Amino acid sequence: MFDKILIANRGEIACRVIDTCRRLGVKVVAVYSEADADARHVAMADEAVCIGPAASGLSYLDIGKVVAAAQQTGAQAVHPGYGFLSENPDFVAALEGAGITFIGPGAEAIRAMGLKDAAKARMEAAGVPVVPGYHGAEQDPGRLEAEAALIGYPVLIKAVAGGGGRGMRLVERAEAFEDALESARVEALGAFGNGDVLIEKFIEHPRHIEVQVFGDGQRAVHLFERDCSLQRRHQKVIEEAPAPGMTQEVRAAMGGAAVRAAKAIGYKGAGTVEFIVDGSGGLRPDGFWFMEMNTRLQVEHPVSEEITGVDLVEWQLRVAAGEPLPCAQEDLTIRGHAMEARLYAEDVPAGFLPATGRLERLRFGPGRVDTGVREGDVISPHYDPMIAKLTCHGATRAEARAALAEGLAATEVAGVVTNLGFLGRLIDHAGFRAGDVETGLIARDLEALTAPCTEPELLALAALAALGLNEGGPGEGFALWAPLSWPVTLLRGAEPVEGRISALGGGAYGVEIGGAEMRAERGPEGWRIDGRSLKARAEVIGGEVQVFGAEPMVFALPDPLEVGAEAAGEGAILAPMPGVVRSLHVRAGETVQAGDRLAVMEAMKMEHVMRAPHDGVVAELAVAAGDQLEAGALIVRIEAEA
Ligand code: ADP
Ligand code: ADP
Ligand code: MG
Repeated sequence: MFDKILIANRGEIACRVIDTCRRLGVKVVAVYSEADADARHVAMADEAVCIGPAASGLSYLDIGKVVAAAQQTGAQAVHPGYGFLSENPDFVAALEGAGITFIGPGAEAIRAMGLKDAAKARMEAAGVPVVPGYHGAEQDPGRLEAEAALIGYPVLIKAVAGGGGRGMRLVERAEAFEDALESARVEALGAFGNGDVLIEKFIEHPRHIEVQVFGDGQRAVHLFERDCSLQRRHQKVIEEAPAPGMTQEVRAAMGGAAVRAAKAIGYKGAGTVEFIVDGSGGLRPDGFWFMEMNTRLQVEHPVSEEITGVDLVEWQLRVAAGEPLPCAQEDLTIRGHAMEARLYAEDVPAGFLPATGRLERLRFGPGRVDTGVREGDVISPHYDPMIAKLTCHGATRAEARAALAEGLAATEVAGVVTNLGFLGRLIDHAGFRAGDVETGLIARDLEALTAPCTEPELLALAALAALGLNEGGPGEGFALWAPLSWPVTLLRGAEPVEGRISALGGGAYGVEIGGAEMRAERGPEGWRIDGRSLKARAEVIGGEVQVFGAEPMVFALPDPLEVGAEAAGEGAILAPMPGVVRSLHVRAGETVQAGDRLAVMEAMKMEHVMRAPHDGVVAELAVAAGDQLEAGALIVRIEAEA
């Protein structure tokens, strides 16, 4: 085994590799860009080398700098993680030239699988079923269109150098072929510097089922399949193992084909053979076709680890260090079921746009968490916006699913928008629950999966938190006269959700919001709404109202000045939130004009200036400088002059 290795990656995968190294007593060198100086993977490593500025091309993708860092620190081997240089044969060759071991397959195996067309030809020769189609060298648009007609529509145009779903176009009819080809080419050229494409039969009701393989150069085994059919725009969202509906017969056929694929290229290390599967009807031994092989550890490898008990990174290190495969095919068995969800910083309503920001809150529920960030860290625009992978195991698929649903509901992220709510809906989708998975599921039900939550109870929790009532508030004392009530506005994006809360005394409140009227009572375990305890909880974090639970939501609060102005409709200026009166700028009886400064409050570490909503006279001054106020407390009342 190695004494010291370098990890040529960042984020969760770098941290995950470090975990195994720690356990095996292997020292770790991290590399990092200037943007990552304080990153979790750097803090976890034994040594760290800065390899350049934030842009990956000048740091994580710079072969010369990574090799130099390995030489300078005396690392014997380099783990590439996934992405970045993990499938770059030139990187492998450069390391070999420097006498450093690449933890992964040889440059030849990577080259053999690097381009989809060459890989398909090779697999066909090895007796692996490939998707029917054209993967020849001729790239003339006329020829490609003729091939598409022969294959029969719908067809898929794929960039031969593609990855991450880019350079791919579904073409339903011959008339649309030319334009689709042009746009696939342009995208592929931009992303991969190679505009060549292949044409494939589009498999209808497609399922993505891939097989984890492992080789030592001589022998190869498979660690069963993963179902990655839940995809958005050809990108995986939720993965699981084993595949729903898998039979022993089909598993043997797919596993066998995957092992043949690995052996055909003398594969060494961890790899994944991806198949497209005809999901209409049950799985069949003749209903799957090779799509591509990823010659690296895959993002979703944890689900395979969870069902086999194998640490794939340990195997990678052992095999790279010259040890034989740790076990034979017969020694591998499946235990239970595992499911993984990819938590991303992304704005789902805005069309899944990558998001950035500081993680003001980051807490996870039970289950396996693979993450490269900690609370307080920043999701920067420079890299993949993945926050974490949550993986849960159960004796059955239903148990794994329930565990993941619970894990997601217990996860709290604030400061950065995420796809957490979308993941929760997906996990709860009736078709998914039934194991009725297909790559088109998300697109088909996108609206329901992304519609804003309108459950009044959850809006009530948010409104109570927004008024600072979680920590106790006004009400009890005031209730003697009349129910005090406060308007509350929650902003979902720019969309206001209006409500009103009234103190009923005795720690109870009436809440009107989302078209419902509810009674809220604060108990030791949180709010009870209409007598029911909710699992969800709401908090104000960094000036935003966060609702955590199965339907996580975030609301901005309108400018407190506006809240004050609205509350002052009857002439009363109320404290928009709990805080201290910093200064008073008027006296009782004084005449004021609209916009005059009346008082300054400090709340949530910010100063809020209360201004006169209209011309008038100060009829009542209810506070003194230095007073601690509760949300909704009266500060001053302005009476319009007769
Ligand atoms: P997987 O099946 O493991 O998701 P992908 O091909 O989608 O495989 O990509 C795996 C990871 O590698 C993703 O996180 C993606 O962001 C990253 N990645 C893919 N292609 C590139 C690339 N060209 N440069 C940098 N990172 C990449
Ligand atoms: P990438 O290198 O971008 O990962 P893949 O060839 O692995 O490209 O395809 C990505 C996804 O596109 C698959 O997971 C699947 O959902 C879909 N796909 C690919 N080929 C086909 C096909 N022939 N028929 C239907 N869907 C396909
Ligand atoms: Mg793929």
